[in-house]
Amino acid sequence: MNQKVYATPRGALMARVRQRNTVPELKVRRLLHAHGWRYQLHPNDLPGTPDIIFRPRRKAIFVHGCFWHAHEGCRLATVPKTRTDVWRKKFKDNRKRDSAKVQALADLGWSVLTVWQCETADEESLLEKLTSFLSLAPVREGKVSPNG
Ligand SMILES: [Zn+2]
Repeated sequence: MNQKVYATPRGALMARVRQRNTVPELKVRRLLHAHGWRYQLHPNDLPGTPDIIFRPRRKAIFVHGCFWHAHEGCRLATVPKTRTDVWRKKFKDNRKRDSAKVQALADLGWSVLTVWQCETADEESLLEKLTSFLSLAPVREGKVSPNG
């Protein structure tokens, strides 16, 4: 039994395909919509297929589950007691993939916000976070000035 085993074909598939329309993501979308923000979902033409984008503003949002994306220091980011090494590696890979996506988008001149599942519990602070992100002036491609 030294063979590397994926639980099921579906399990292997789920490992590749990021989950969409999760509860935290729907919360973020509902909140944005209620406050008049219009957005596009899961655009296939952008690296990493962000969950929510505001194309004219070049803003992208990822909504991450704290468990799957191993939110650092978060009580929801637990490591299962069995096959711990496998999980740790998986979480590490997920985090690496997440930061590669952010970098790829930044290279195209997009600003990226990551919203964590645990942050969606408090709607008021979530709205504040979203609003300040969306209100920032867009970053121009290849020209980042700290003073705007
Ligand atoms: Zn968290």
